[in-house]
Amino acid sequence: GPVPIVLSIDNVVKRYGSATAVAGISLDIRENEFFALLGPSGCGKTTLLRMLAGFETPTAGRILIDGVDVAPVPPNRRPVNLMFQSYALFPHMSVRANIAYGLEMEGLKRAEIKARVDAILETTHLAPLADRRPEQLSGGQRQRVALARALVKRPRVLLLDEPLGALDKKLREAMQIELKRLQHEVGITFVMVTHDQEEALVMADRMAVLKDGRLLQCDGPHAIYEQPADRFVADFIGVMNFADGTAAVDGLTAKDGTAIRGERPAGLAPGAAAVAAVRPERLKLGAEGADNRAAGRIEAVAYHGLDLQLHVRTALSPKPFLVRLTADAADRRPVAIGEDVVLGWSAADT
Ligand code: ADP
Ligand code: MG
Repeated sequence: GPVPIVLSIDNVVKRYGSATAVAGISLDIRENEFFALLGPSGCGKTTLLRMLAGFETPTAGRILIDGVDVAPVPPNRRPVNLMFQSYALFPHMSVRANIAYGLEMEGLKRAEIKARVDAILETTHLAPLADRRPEQLSGGQRQRVALARALVKRPRVLLLDEPLGALDKKLREAMQIELKRLQHEVGITFVMVTHDQEEALVMADRMAVLKDGRLLQCDGPHAIYEQPADRFVADFIGVMNFADGTAAVDGLTAKDGTAIRGERPAGLAPGAAAVAAVRPERLKLGAEGADNRAAGRIEAVAYHGLDLQLHVRTALSPKPFLVRLTADAADRRPVAIGEDVVLGWSAADT
């Protein structure tokens, strides 16, 4: 049957005086999913999360958890737990005591507290560190303690606001995988806020892209990457090359007259202003067998280990096109700055 909805956000608005932080968002978040709220700084992600936790009251709209309107329920009585970016561990207490604290406050029996804390210490790989104090831990380990402390209370939904924002790149990438493994293992719904599109793509089962307090698109990472709803989403998620022009029957006529074959969005009349878009990894050097072609000149070459990124100046757009060649392709076809090339790509990728 259909996956149950845990969290229903129904046309939620939040205004601060005349400023609108959240401008009417509706979302259904499913049981056991890793859901990401993604958008640039200031788009309302934290405000939305704080309303789910109960720290802010919506100006309009409803929030339902397991079908129940939680408007009258205070934060500490909601079946959700918000994990803050600053972990706020008790410095004088051991890892074990930090994790047990919330359960003690709930008045659970000693034996049950011990069993649950032991289990979560195992799950989070913290058992060997159980007797240490926070100052004796690394940043990543402290983060795991904060997570364990939130998870041990078994919330229906765990809310995380930029949980990896304070970590350096290597550790952040390791924690992305770790957090995803943990979510899968504990089977709790996670709602994570991030401004990092790559992080959302890597971690989320589904994600919502927000801008200026509005929802632009909600779908799985693959669908959002391959079928972005609009130019903003296409540009924000990954890298996209654009060519402005006018809609034609089977694609678009670029400003320089080049016919670009591709899908014409439904509802766009021929002649209307339109934009064609193609991802850097879909462009090839050489147009043999390609539906689309554009002549250009290589302006810059950047080596990234796994791939080679070229900036190719064409007549299609004021910005150079970004072309991403795999290391293999670059080995077969060496390139140099100043070289004249032809780019080819298929209509299906446009
Ligand atoms: P994000 O987390 O996506 O960066 P926020 O939810 O923090 O964005 O903020 C969204 C908008 O609401 C911003 O313009 C911010 O300045 C404004 N805002 C957030 N909290 C308050 C507040 N308590 N009072 C006034 N304006 C606020
Ligand atoms: Mg924020």
